[in-house]
Amino acid sequence: MNLLEEISINCPYCGEPITVLIDGSLEQQQYVEDCQVCCKPMEIHVVISADGRCRVEARSEND
Ligand SMILES: [Zn+2]
Repeated sequence: MNLLEEISINCPYCGEPITVLIDGSLEQQQYVEDCQVCCKPMEIHVVISADGRCRVEARSEND
């Protein structure tokens, strides 16, 4: 089963809301994605909690 979910986050650089596609079948994910607005690379951290909800954090690579 493929559980793709669109989640909105705010870019750590420019603060604009962007949409990332999360694979809900994986418990934990971490990857780098370029901001759709300012094109800077941010680290996306995804944690799926026990109740199945996604928590997403975006961090700048320089943190
Ligand atoms: Zn940005």
